[in-house]
Amino acid sequence: MFKILIPDENHDTINDVDLSSLRKKGLNNILIDVDNTIVPWNSDKVSSNLRTWIKKSQDTGFELYLFSNNSHSRIKKLADILKISAIPKGGKPLTFAFRRALKYIDGSPEDTVMIGDQVFTDIWGGNLVGLYTILVNPISSKEFWGTKFNRFLEKLLAIRR
Ligand SMILES: [Mg+2]
Repeated sequence: MFKILIPDENHDTINDVDLSSLRKKGLNNILIDVDNTIVPWNSDKVSSNLRTWIKKSQDTGFELYLFSNNSHSRIKKLADILKISAIPKGGKPLTFAFRRALKYIDGSPEDTVMIGDQVFTDIWGGNLVGLYTILVNPISSKEFWGTKFNRFLEKLLAIRR
């Protein structure tokens, strides 16, 4: 019934994603949500686990891009720390925003993954455009008030495993 809200994969953290199997599916690009997907909400705390994961993804052949609705300055700063690209002006879950992101990275729905912690922004938008979507559990429970409401809906619909 809510198929458009269901991710292709569901994991505890990004570290649990099987990168090689994604490559075998023909996927080359990963759009990565920032807040509560790779760092706690509004934090620049980069873990060594995250650095290892980024290196591993790049070694597996992926192009990585931060794709967040948070402010441009914050995402740019984090992108500089991690030495990966950031897509300016999020706008998730609008399909327009996802299409603009694909254009920016010169990618297609068939070769691009969206990894995020929110059903109603990352997964919904990604699915609408036809990306391969992966839902992870939020890193911390501290979050934007609007997100808390979305969590309530996620629970109500029992989307998260
Ligand atoms: Mg998030």
